[in-house]
Amino acid sequence: MNAWARSDARLEQSRADPGAAGCHCRQFDIATGSVRAVEALVRWSRPGQGLVEPLNFIAVAEECGLILPIGRWVMATACADAMRWQGAGQAICVAVNLSAVRFRDPDLAGSVAKALAHSGLSAGLLEIEFTESAAGTIASLKALRASGIQLAMDDFGTGYSSLSYLKRRPLTMIKIDRSFILGLPDDHKSCATVNAILAMTKSLGLKVKAEGVERLGQAMLLRDMGCDQLQGYYFSKPVPAAEIPELLTRSWSWPEIPHVLYQDEAD
Ligand code: C2E
Ligand code: CA
Ligand code: CA
Repeated sequence: MNAWARSDARLEQSRADPGAAGCHCRQFDIATGSVRAVEALVRWSRPGQGLVEPLNFIAVAEECGLILPIGRWVMATACADAMRWQGAGQAICVAVNLSAVRFRDPDLAGSVAKALAHSGLSAGLLEIEFTESAAGTIASLKALRASGIQLAMDDFGTGYSSLSYLKRRPLTMIKIDRSFILGLPDDHKSCATVNAILAMTKSLGLKVKAEGVERLGQAMLLRDMGCDQLQGYYFSKPVPAAEIPELLTRSWSWPEIPHVLYQDEAD
């Protein structure tokens, strides 16, 4: 039995209970200087092995169909978490990753509406992240957007998105892929690419979030380039939902150093 088949069998055993666990990554809002959103990131809680990272099971779960109950669990849990934080006076948006497989459901918007209604969360506080692999989903996206849900295109720049692809979809946000942020602030090609993405998406009226921000120099450059939100280990690694309220109470401000100083010495 190869590794994939073994994972498949183990996932199959957990069909009754996806055994999923939720983590959240903070997203820092530049205009307000505060955390306005978190991204829900699933882990697989496997007895004896602790939390398994999604890259080690999402593909198999998509193949064997388990991504559907896992995805529904993540959505329900994320909405319930956000509703609880709102009840405690911290209304922040929660971003949920949706697999391309879920976009095959013609009633995707109805199923998301049920999750929102069940939790009581308002649609404006839910952001759905999807990648280009969720192709041919304009009708689903329009139905989701019509209900007030925010729509973010994930891993932007890694696929073949054309301007017409962006123009025809009712997006609210673009997430620049981590691979472009990695080379900032020193690599000129990375800087030029990020600048071009920002100019293009801004001209379409979209907000821009950068992911994979690990250093202050990257954060400062992205701020000065006009990025709206930042996410990455510089702000926090993914943490369990229970730790989010405490993290939200911590304020953060830009260090007092010249804007031109982006290099590592500033970190
Ligand atoms: P993603 O949607 O691009 O999520 C961002 C990934 O980058 C997360 O990894 C996050 O922990 C990691 N990350 C964030 N900031 C940094 C940083 O500064 N440096 C580095 N090195 N990494 C950073 P994670 O949690 O392992 O998730 C990996 C992928 O698994 C996600 O990539 C997404 O494609 C998928 N995934 C996670 N949760 C779900 C889910 O509930 N449903 C579906 N369908 N896919 C999910
Ligand atoms: Ca994502
Ligand atoms: Ca991403």
